[in-house]
This record gives sequence, structure tokens and C-alpha cells, in this order.
Amino acid sequence: MRLVRSGLVALAGMFATGGLVVGQTASQKPEVPVEKWTGKTIMLIGAHADDDALSHGTLAMLQAHGNQVYIVTLTTGNVGTQDPKLSRTQLAEIRRQEELEALKELGIPGDHYINLGYDDGMLEFEDRKAVVENLVRWIRKLRPDVLFAWDPGKNFQRWHKSDHRAAAYLAADAARAAMWRLLFEGQITQEGLKEFMVPEYMFYNDYDFQDENVWVDITDFVDKRVSADAHYSSQYGPGWKNYNANPSEEEVKEMRAWALDTIRTRDGKRTEGFRYYRGLPDAMGK
Ligand SMILES: [Zn+2]
Repeated sequence: MRLVRSGLVALAGMFATGGLVVGQTASQKPEVPVEKWTGKTIMLIGAHADDDALSHGTLAMLQAHGNQVYIVTLTTGNVGTQDPKLSRTQLAEIRRQEELEALKELGIPGDHYINLGYDDGMLEFEDRKAVVENLVRWIRKLRPDVLFAWDPGKNFQRWHKSDHRAAAYLAADAARAAMWRLLFEGQITQEGLKEFMVPEYMFYNDYDFQDENVWVDITDFVDKRVSADAHYSSQYGPGWKNYNANPSEEEVKEMRAWALDTIRTRDGKRTEGFRYYRGLPDAMGK
């Protein structure tokens, strides 16, 4: 299935230069394996409360290993339902609670969840400058060692559905802008923040995994991921069409089985895959 991948990795290895990383190569790996990271600040930018679910095993592991994980979600998720009974306000509140409960399963404190309050489904029509400024502020506040985000693409732009597409580029643009003192200068002169360059990135995807170069072994955190996923009852299972705040035992069991089924296996291990990148933000897509 991945014959092309192994060819590319071999090729990149042939041209690897003695430690000087100019931009992305197919063989780029974290200096310390993700499973051994500790003491880092981790920031994830997503469009919806549950975009982080693709990385929940890794995030639970990082939090357990003494890293601080923060989730920054751009929209309230106030459109994502097929239940005709729910209003935008109700759905936004439901999804906030689901996310907080999910994060609790992962050991991530509730005050590490930051929702920027944009409308679901409309992210790409927002004032881009204002959204980037908002994200830059959070990057400069949290000063993450590693930024998790939707993958904006490598060499070519990557297509995602609406808000995910917008979130990929907004996160990339914000990471780039955050390092320039004279961009959104008021944050520095008036708000006491400092410019900041994000050194490492973990880009996630929900389909077409061919650019992945890091696979995190989440074997010990599968249960936490499954338990977290089972809280998104407005998104998965029968609650998608007919929301019920208290799903039955049978429904929860079904959701857990589904959640388990979404976890990929590689070399016999339960894994989450990412495109890892380390270097100047300008080259994150090269
Ligand atoms: Zn989403």
C-alpha cells in the first residue's frame, strides 16, 4: 500500500545533510521520540470540539508524561448536528461540555481548553487578519514547544473540508506571524507579550495519510482515547440525528466499539500518525 512512501524515505535519506535541517524531508524525525517527551508545552489548534480526537492517544500520553497540553478550538461547533430539535446555542453548550468531559478522560484540565467562539461552518469567511491575530496572541501567551494542527500540506496544498481547510492555514499563518515582533506589535507593546517561534509541529489528518513520518505508539492510552471519544454523543452514534444527553449503556458500548475501530494499527501496535516538522515556520509545507 505504501510502496511509494518507502521509496521516498530512502531517497530523502540519500540526500540528508549532516544535521542541518533546512526544511521538511521525508525522513525528518523528532530528536527525542514523542513517547519520551516531557516538560514540553503542547498546543493543538482545531476547528471544532473533537478535532483533537484524532490525537487523543498522543495527547493523553503527553499529559501523563509531564507535558502541559492546551487545546485551542476556533469554532463553537454550533452547526454540527442533524437533530432538528437543537438550536445553535444548545449545540454550542453541548459540545463544550462534551469536550471538557473528553479532556478530563485524557487528564487535561478544563482550563486548558480555549474556545475562540467563531461560528461553525463559516471559518473561511471570517476576517482572516482578526483570526490570525487571535491565534498569534495565544501562541505568544502559551509559547508552545510543539504545535499540533490540521496539515496544510507538504509541497502541495492539502484539501480539507471547509473549517478544517481554514483551520490548517490559519494555524500555519499564525505560527509564522507569531515570530515577527513587528506583526501585531500591539500585543508586544501594550499587552506584555513577546514574539515567539514555534520550533516543532505535529500535523494531523483525517484521511490520506501518505505524508505521515511519525507514528506514536498509543497502546497504553487506547482506553483513554476510547473513553474520551464516547463523550461526543452529539457527533457519533444515534445522537447525531436524535441527541440524548444520557445515552443508554448499549449506545455507549456501541460508541466505544466505533471509537476503538477508528484507531489505526501499524506494525502490530495501536498508533496515531502525524507529519512531524521542525524548523522555520516558512518551510513547514516544503
Ligand atoms: Zn472538525
